[in-house]
Amino acid sequence: MSKVYIEKLDFSDVASIKNRFETLLAADLQTEDSMVQWLKEVSDFYDAIQEGLDGHYIDFQAYNNDEDAKRAFQYDQEKIEPLVKRQKAKVDEKFLQAPAKDKLDKEVYGRYIKSKENASALFNKENVQLEIEEDRLATRYFEITGALTADWNGEELTVVQLFPYLEDPDRELRKKAFDLIFGSLLEVKDDLQKIMSELLEIREKKANNSKLANYRDYMFKKYERFDYTPEDCKQLAASIKEHVLPVAGKLRKQHKQELGVDVLRPYDSKGVPADKTPLKPFASIDELVSKTSTVLGELDPRFAELIKKMNEKRQLDLESRKNKSPGGFCTPLPVSESSFIFMNASRSHDDMLTLLHEMGHCIHNDLKFPIDLSYYKDTPMESSELASMSMELLSMDQWHHFYEDEEQLNRAKLDQLKGILEFLPQGMKIDLFQHWMYENPDHTMEERMEKYDEIHQMLDAGVVEWDGYEEVRKARWLFVLHIFEVPFYYVEYVIAQLGAVQMYKQYKEDKDAALENYKHALSLGNTKSLQEIYEAAGIKFDFSPELIKELMEFLQNEIQELESAAGTAK
Ligand SMILES: [Zn+2]
Repeated sequence: MSKVYIEKLDFSDVASIKNRFETLLAADLQTEDSMVQWLKEVSDFYDAIQEGLDGHYIDFQAYNNDEDAKRAFQYDQEKIEPLVKRQKAKVDEKFLQAPAKDKLDKEVYGRYIKSKENASALFNKENVQLEIEEDRLATRYFEITGALTADWNGEELTVVQLFPYLEDPDRELRKKAFDLIFGSLLEVKDDLQKIMSELLEIREKKANNSKLANYRDYMFKKYERFDYTPEDCKQLAASIKEHVLPVAGKLRKQHKQELGVDVLRPYDSKGVPADKTPLKPFASIDELVSKTSTVLGELDPRFAELIKKMNEKRQLDLESRKNKSPGGFCTPLPVSESSFIFMNASRSHDDMLTLLHEMGHCIHNDLKFPIDLSYYKDTPMESSELASMSMELLSMDQWHHFYEDEEQLNRAKLDQLKGILEFLPQGMKIDLFQHWMYENPDHTMEERMEKYDEIHQMLDAGVVEWDGYEEVRKARWLFVLHIFEVPFYYVEYVIAQLGAVQMYKQYKEDKDAALENYKHALSLGNTKSLQEIYEAAGIKFDFSPELIKELMEFLQNEIQELESAAGTAK
């Protein structure tokens, strides 16, 4: 195991970490200059802590059977992170009390001050202890869901390995995979429900400790959602119900026809028609990297250089292997001034998309490195995901590098656009469900299942016949790890997806301008509000039915064009 990150601090020496904090806390902050200098020192120290923590997380995810990696990760969770949280709160207090704070340039430091005031109001010592328990429960969730396996023709496969069969042209195979996947989920349903109940209780306590009405309000503050309210999220769900569901319903009917089935069943949702072969964008990891580099290079040579550099530094861990955790993510390495991508590629279209998506995050990180303070580099998900989701769409014109076959190329693009229409309502289901859970923390497990089902019905495009699968329908949210691990982190995908569609629309109208706006907006990091970032990208931060309607018309036209080109227009 070789290190892909820089370890500036020795976490095993707790005293030295504490000392560094003590020194920062003892600083004399009378003048503006000393304050500016001190903020930079704080920021560099936090960068070093972050890269150390994330580095250990990467090691553990990459080799989860390595005892040293596991020990380091658990030690961080139990010792270092609580220590850092408590000390950071003290540093925030010192900053807020410092005489020089009011001398700082408001244009530059206004957002920083607001953030620290918010964090200080939210901080509560007892919550630090509760968060250790919260982490343990989330880990337990991953242990249970990660251990789900099923017998596939005599071979024991994980649920993750079974998912690709849901796309199989053979309907019997799809049904078999679906039954095994959700059968295994239903077996652990009660265990996962108990974890959820415990999490709800802890999270409710955290909100109480911070003197907030409920955990939803707590998380809105925690995520610094200053640009929109819970009411806006509900408005967004209503707009999507009105303008996305009818289009999504039409697409499902069309899909049913293409599959040639009388009734569309839950196991048909991802099915590929029998006369088509699954998409094959690359044959080896080397090919995936080199083709991605070509695609990115045609948007901007700098993007291609970035992936080449990361590959040379072994900061791309793409291949699936034994004892590597499932999933994919991108982590900035602020000390190394680079990023790290973790994923589990098989050979699918999704893998190609995942790498393009994660490269969007890396490009964002790369453009943010010149920013001085770590706080201003740490972008909220609404803009981070705008960077990555836009990259999926902006790269579409270059996908012929992955697909020489015209039919495959066309289908890949159609899947991408249709996938957006399927995703938007699904995303809002997960968001509304979480609002309800934390607004009504005293509900029973059964009521939770019923409520999810009710929200599902309200935001579903229909067409799918669920007879005999009602229990699966109610329990599907148990597979959404965000609900357990990063609560309320989901609506951002919906917001960013709407932003990405706007970016794509802009790109279709003027490629050069769209790319310039994209890079400019990304380079602003977190120095501006979301409204301003989206504006810099040449798009709107807007939840209104009018905008959604306009975007749906645009997507429908794009889909129609691709279908005419493929000669499959119906
Ligand atoms: Zn992402």
